[in-house]
Amino acid sequence: MSVLVVGSLALDTIETPFGSVKDTVGGSAVYIATSASYFASPVRVVGVVGGDFPKGALDFLEERHIDLAGLETVQGGKTFRWSGRYRYDLNERDTLTTDLNVFEHFDPKVPEVYRRTRVVCLGNIDPVLQRKVLDQMEQPRVVICDTMNYWIERKSSELRDTLHLINVLVLNDSEARLLSREPNLIKAAKAIRAMGPGVVIIKKGEHGALLTTEGMVFSAPAYPMENIFDPTGAGDSFAGGFAGWLAKTDDMSEANLKRAVIYGSTLASFCVERFGIEGLKDLTYLQIQDRFRQFRELSRFDEE
Ligand code: AMP
Repeated sequence: MSVLVVGSLALDTIETPFGSVKDTVGGSAVYIATSASYFASPVRVVGVVGGDFPKGALDFLEERHIDLAGLETVQGGKTFRWSGRYRYDLNERDTLTTDLNVFEHFDPKVPEVYRRTRVVCLGNIDPVLQRKVLDQMEQPRVVICDTMNYWIERKSSELRDTLHLINVLVLNDSEARLLSREPNLIKAAKAIRAMGPGVVIIKKGEHGALLTTEGMVFSAPAYPMENIFDPTGAGDSFAGGFAGWLAKTDDMSEANLKRAVIYGSTLASFCVERFGIEGLKDLTYLQIQDRFRQFRELSRFDEE
């Protein structure tokens, strides 16, 4: 099955304790689409860039068979820019600047041929834009949505409207607490499910992720990594791997949702090993499978 991805395409400036990069290609849609493309085809993108977005990056996405017919280019406009800094605790980051640029007046238009896409993955953008995309879709099978504190704080009621229309919400632990006003994550997930999505996934950085539905709590481990260079895009790669696996398998059972969470965690683990999107380039299906299996060993134990 196909996947539609909506989100930012960005030029990111990132500082970590291990180095820094300026204006490197990033954005939620880039990470999600690249990760999903390892499982699903076609992967389609709706987004906007300025004339300054590197052609090499568009070529890379096309080489991964990502359909860019829904990507608008504003000639003379500037691409969305974000900069952030990580300290030694890589779970915490400071956003230094967010320049919306061409995103400020973005009005997403879903091309006719995209409208019947079965799996929709709404990257972290203004919930009003997420909603506009959903209004143009024809009965998707599953809608996965990401969000962040920026929108929870600024567009709370618009976000609530979007939550009524989605099936899966992916967010991190502090965002879950902020949205639900509930410190306990199990209760927070329950409160968020009452807002609309039947599945809530709470990411806990280097401590893994919690997958929750009405009848299940599944605690996915994080892959123990010695070399994390840049956590940027980990959340989006998780969402992309999750969405891609669901699209590939067309199976929304609880057992398959668990697999999708582990594939999401697998893609996130590759992402953070290098700066920007470098860690997601040139993976093989074998490498992905191999790491997926290592996840299984992480928390397997015998009763005796
Ligand atoms: P993640 O690390 O998975 O949360 O996502 C990082 C990506 O999100 C970066 O590549 C940024 O360009 C992008 N990003 C950061 N803030 C925003 C925002 N307010 N709207 C859209 N994209 C953003």
